[in-house]
Amino acid sequence: MSDVAVVGSGPNGLSAAVTMARAGLSVHVFEAADSIGGGTRTAELTLPGYRHDVCAAVHPMALASPFFKAFELDRRIELLVPEVSYGHPLDGGRAGIAYRDLDRTVAGLGVDGRAWRALMEPLLRRLEGVVDFTQGGLLRIPQDPLAVLRYALRTLAQGTPAWNLGFKGEVAPAMLTGVGAHAIGRLPSLATSGAGLLLGVLAHAQGWPVPRGGSQAIAQALADDLTAHGGRIEVGQRIESIAELKAATGAKAVICNTTPRALAGMAKNELPTRYIRKLESFKYGAGVCKVDFALSGPVPWTAAELANAPTLHLGGSRKSIAFAEGEVLAGRHPKNPYVLAVQAGVVDGSRAPAGHHTLWAYTHVPAGSTRDCTEDIVRSVERHAPGFRDLILASSAQTARDVGDYNANYIDGDISSGAVTLMQLLKRPVIATDPWRTPSQGLYLGSASTPPGPAVHGMGGWLAARSALKNTFGLPAPYLGL
Ligand SMILES: Cc1cc2nc3c(=O)[nH]c(=O)nc-3n(C[C@H](O)[C@H](O)[C@H](O)COP(=O)(O)OP(=O)(O)OC[C@H]3O[C@@H](n4cnc5c(N)ncnc54)[C@H](O)[C@@H]3O)c2cc1C
Repeated sequence: MSDVAVVGSGPNGLSAAVTMARAGLSVHVFEAADSIGGGTRTAELTLPGYRHDVCAAVHPMALASPFFKAFELDRRIELLVPEVSYGHPLDGGRAGIAYRDLDRTVAGLGVDGRAWRALMEPLLRRLEGVVDFTQGGLLRIPQDPLAVLRYALRTLAQGTPAWNLGFKGEVAPAMLTGVGAHAIGRLPSLATSGAGLLLGVLAHAQGWPVPRGGSQAIAQALADDLTAHGGRIEVGQRIESIAELKAATGAKAVICNTTPRALAGMAKNELPTRYIRKLESFKYGAGVCKVDFALSGPVPWTAAELANAPTLHLGGSRKSIAFAEGEVLAGRHPKNPYVLAVQAGVVDGSRAPAGHHTLWAYTHVPAGSTRDCTEDIVRSVERHAPGFRDLILASSAQTARDVGDYNANYIDGDISSGAVTLMQLLKRPVIATDPWRTPSQGLYLGSASTPPGPAVHGMGGWLAARSALKNTFGLPAPYLGL
């Protein structure tokens, strides 16, 4: 018997479980897949000795997430922080480089250096306030109103068709579009602009780290802490009914690390019809096609500085990326797609045999697409790194349909577990000051489908757990030392 049952072992499921176990409760995690981790698994997807991140690869939130700070993730695993947060190749051998060092970035951006500084520096100065505002529910009094004002004004400036005002060249706007496109949404829009600015400012703050050995290290650190506090994890256990789960475990609280759709399916008899309708009206977004490569050498980028960038945004100019993302949202596969690529070997030699490398890449596609985009991605990389094709020893592709089959939380390949739109940042999945708590006694939702949304930060699970500790167990804060 347990006090708490957690459905799903993604970073949010595990952060919820760790928080509950550290509060002295007995916790049992049930995971449908054969291994823990959800979006933080690492595996030999191509050849023996080549370790690829199956889902998440780069972790802008690893050093910034309030949950990971409280958990002291950086003391438990080795987070490799590169000097270059991301690079953005452009035709003619040019590239935009976002160094961790803001001054160096500004110097490299020439005519647009001042505009870049004006966008980033005021946010950087009030980083804690920006993180506080973006990493919780939006319906609350923010810790630092000035930070929110600065962030809101810049989100507006970059989120409307007037987004080029203040920029003279092509490189800086392309870089901003490349980060905004992480959110897989309309460009420009307030949702993609807000997400891009947060990622953009983190690039100049703690940087965009890559865990040594792969993202699995994050899941393992959480699982180790959970078991050290008496928690249990069972893999290969897909939960179909909350009532049966409660009966089997005796749990007073159940935290679902799932989508709203899955929650509605598992708890149809426990939840009021009106709430179920809200869960069912939650919208899912476009998908990704992911391709991993085993390479006999480093990617031969024409722009030499890209050799130092673990993370790369391909797709060209601002106009070209915005057009490609519009095509995806309209249900088409773009000719010149946006590609997010990570060459972890730049900082982590453990991913491939000596001298060899891996490349992780995905491109956005219409929801549920069955297209294998290997060739589209190879062409995109070749455009800025001629000779790349000759280095490929093996590759492994997951279509959007495969991504959805791999993890029930990625419906039709939507890796954000719910479209990232302004409406769905407010309504994730309901508009409430405590959106993690459901109307059913002791039932909570803590996943990327709840605030603060997608990415590996553990915040959705942590906030769900805090709500459960307060509302079901009557335990006062601080939780996990905060
Ligand atoms: C290809 C890809 C690339 C990505 N790249 C990045 C990146 O570089 N950086 C980043 O920060 N984020 C990235 N993400 C997003 C990130 O992985 C997710 O936002 C994050 O993992 C969400 O965490 P979560 O705990 O909410 O859910 P998940 O990590 O999706 O975990 C949910 C878990 O719940 C389990 N589950 C679901 N239903 C049930 C059930 N009924 N019973 C039992 N178990 C169940 C699933 O099997 C899964 O293990 C990427 C995702 C993908 C797919």
